[in-house]
Amino acid sequence: MLEPEVETRPWDEQLVLDDETYRAQIAYLLERSAFYREKLAGLEAAGLADIARLPLTEKDELRATRTPDNPIGTHLCATRDEIVRIYSTSGTTGAPTYIPLTAADLDNWVTGSARSYAASGIAAGQRIVSTYNAGPFVAGAALAAFDRIGLSHIPVGTGNTERLMAAIDALRPEAAVLTPSYAAHLVEWAAERDFDLRGSSVERVLVAGEPGGGEPAFRAKLEEGWGARVTEAMGIGDIGVSLWGECGEQDGMHLGARGFVHVELTAPETGEALPLEDGSSGELVLTHLQHRAAPLLRFRTRDHVEIRTAPCPCGRTGPRVRCVGRTDDMLIVRGVNVFPSAVREVVSAFAPQVSGHILVRPQVAGVKQEPPLPVAVELARDATPDAALADAIRDRLRDVLVVQTRVELVEWGSLRRSEYKSKLVET
Ligand SMILES: [Zn+2]
Repeated sequence: MLEPEVETRPWDEQLVLDDETYRAQIAYLLERSAFYREKLAGLEAAGLADIARLPLTEKDELRATRTPDNPIGTHLCATRDEIVRIYSTSGTTGAPTYIPLTAADLDNWVTGSARSYAASGIAAGQRIVSTYNAGPFVAGAALAAFDRIGLSHIPVGTGNTERLMAAIDALRPEAAVLTPSYAAHLVEWAAERDFDLRGSSVERVLVAGEPGGGEPAFRAKLEEGWGARVTEAMGIGDIGVSLWGECGEQDGMHLGARGFVHVELTAPETGEALPLEDGSSGELVLTHLQHRAAPLLRFRTRDHVEIRTAPCPCGRTGPRVRCVGRTDDMLIVRGVNVFPSAVREVVSAFAPQVSGHILVRPQVAGVKQEPPLPVAVELARDATPDAALADAIRDRLRDVLVVQTRVELVEWGSLRRSEYKSKLVET
């Protein structure tokens, strides 16, 4: 554990400390943030216990306040000379937005990210190979977390599998960090070339960047292919990088950014606050507690998560999350919410008959769909189409996700592989 005294602090004590920083953060927002002065006008912001009375913040609202004079937006609180870094988002849901950080913000990001990644069990003195082309994106701050942990970091970037495998072979890193899609792609890559991935030096595979690493069937496939333990981490650009990280128990991600971020759960349709109870699920809403450059209050992450609150044997306290999918990817099939990553999880359980690759092919544009929802399911190598298998997958999807689908089995290799993030829905 990187900071045992922080990470094992009883959660109720954490909330007392957070209440204090939250009150100071609100005072700072009212003093410096034009965006929140307007948004909170006439409202009384008390302590954390009453936070659900305040409005949620949507990414689009922030984006709407940008002007040529202020390309960041009116939530910018810091002066030009206070800002040490400006990241931008990947712009998957619109034009890129800028994310400024002060030196203290950046340091907090790295601290939280280091705790999250260290939860996986990697430790000072070990080697880690990374496959992110961080470029303009917040993932760059996660790479600094590896230095903080004391790892020897071997960056190889995205899109050069030969170079990555050569580095693993020659430099013998104990860990690799990559997206779950790329980790899955490498299992196939190795199988095609008789590369002994299972026998490689890599003992831990740290996955991040997209949901999926925590889906049991998908994870089992990665662990089998790599001969390594797979744990996931997750952040959200506007709030912080790798805020969450899983420990070896693999039962949800711990909040590495505890003390820097306050966590809420809400119903995605209504925005209504939901209790943080074991097994509850909803959209993750996050609030900065000690941010300076452009702090956000009750920010809708669009990550749909399940909560775990049962004590974790590792000793870390506080709620844990497992990401079910992005609200942006969600489809509503006759009133039922369907996450493509959940479809993949159900389908993956049919291995070794299937490859684990799926593609949902909506019949109409938009979120609302009429059943049956077409799903292409890729067969394993050498498997032949089998009507009984298609029926069995369809029935399992109906039983588990309560959704009517039309399952089309497609040949091995016909769905696109990704070296970064997978697209599970055809657009
Ligand atoms: Zn744990």
